[in-house]
This record gives sequence, structure tokens and C-alpha cells, in this order.
Amino acid sequence: FTKHRLYCEAPLMAGAVLELARDQANYLLNVLRLRSGDTILAFNGRDGEWLCAIRAEGRKQASLEALELARPQPPAPDLVYLFAPLKHARLDYMAQKAVEMGAGVLQPVLTRFTQVSRLNLDRLAANAIEAAEQCGILALPQIRPEQPLAAALAALEPERLLIFCDEAQDAQSPIAALQAARRGPLAVLIGPEGGFDESERAVILQRERLLRLSLGPRILRADTAAVAALAVVQAALGD
Ligand code: SAM
Repeated sequence: FTKHRLYCEAPLMAGAVLELARDQANYLLNVLRLRSGDTILAFNGRDGEWLCAIRAEGRKQASLEALELARPQPPAPDLVYLFAPLKHARLDYMAQKAVEMGAGVLQPVLTRFTQVSRLNLDRLAANAIEAAEQCGILALPQIRPEQPLAAALAALEPERLLIFCDEAQDAQSPIAALQAARRGPLAVLIGPEGGFDESERAVILQRERLLRLSLGPRILRADTAAVAALAVVQAALGD
């Protein structure tokens, strides 16, 4: 049995009382059928995870009282995940899976074949929170506004190894290549539905700390490639 986890923005400390939004109260009282005195876990991305007691007022309003610290706040994962935004549900999926798979920074990049030009960052954040609630992460990923590909690459620290997921058949196969290239922090780059064009590939290939990684012989959908790439990183490096 795992306790339900809820994200809240307010500060968490012993004795703090957090008023819940209507949809959160409804979820706890009417969907999960919890009652006053039942406990859940709450986190805000800063103050660790707290055991909290529910204080219900009728069936529609509730607050939480923070009782004790269940887990201290860990450092945020240091994996930058660069991806060309996809449309609608595929982007929701991509953001949720990236958070579940350990991405610490979500950096949307705009490329020639990117099909989305204006991004709903609030929706991206809502998906990241949902994934964090679900999978036990306490540090919420940082969500950066979209940037052109070249600018996003230029903003990476020089020592960060860029893992460029490349469907070209001469890219290296993953586990041993990753283990050999590892030294310092990482970033993972996935292209858009249409792939990168030649000039974009040239910009990427200029980077000194670069590993061009194959995820196998088939061309994966961009959102599948995202999960596959991050799974390989986790399996090879434990991040
Ligand atoms: N048309 C499909 C779609 O709608 O998603 C295919 C997209 S594929 C070109 C998108 C990105 O996924 C590529 O730019 C690359 O980063 C990654 N990718 C796909 N298959 C891959 C593979 N076998 N190895 C490495 N990266 C791959």
C-alpha cells in the first residue's frame, strides 16, 4: 500500500496548514474516499516530503496539516533533456515520461521541422507535476522556455556530454559507448517528427563533448525515442 502523494505550492513545515484547491479536495474525499484524520504525503519541490493529516469540511473542502518530515529534499537530477516539442497528447506523454526517467531540466528546442512553434509551458509544468506525484520524485524538473536549437546547444556548459540520439546507421550502440564517454554532467537531445536538417546536424556535430547514439536499426517515433534514450542512460549510468 502506498500513500497518495500530492503536490502543493505552499511552504511545508511542522504544523503548517495547507488549504487544498477544490479539485484536490474532491479527489481526496470523493475519489479516494479519504476522511479527516487519514494521512497522505505532500511535497512542493523544495521542502522534502511531509506526512500530512487531512482535515475535511464537508465533502468539498479540505486542508492538510503537516505532521512530520517523511523524506528530506534531495538534490535535483542533473540531466538536461533537449527535445523538439510534439503536438498535444504526444507532448504530454513525452514530458511525463522524461520526468519519470530522471530528466532534471526540460529544454524544448525549435528546429526546422518542429511542428509546434508556441509552447504551453503551464501545460508542460502540469504534466511534470503529475509525473512527479506519480513516481515519487521530490525535486520538480526545471522547465525552460523554448529556444532555437543552436542557442540551446550554446547554452550548455562545455563539459556537459551531449548525447545526440541519431537515427543514422553509423551512430554508436548505447551501453558501452555511454560508459566509455561518461565524465561529468549529461544532456540528451531528441529530434522532431521530421528529424534534423543538414545545417542543424552540422551545428550539433560541432560540439566537442558529443556522443552520437543509435537506439537500434528502426526509426522510432520521437516520443518513443525519448523514453528509449533515457532508459539507456539510466541502465548504463544509473542516473
Ligand atoms: N516520423 C517519426 C515521428 O513522427 O516521431 C520519426 C521521428 S525520428 C526522425 C525523431 C527523432 O527520434 C530523431 O531526430 C532522433 O533524435 C530520434 N530517433 C529515432 N529513431 C532513432 C534511432 N534508431 N536511434 C537514435 N535516435 C533515434
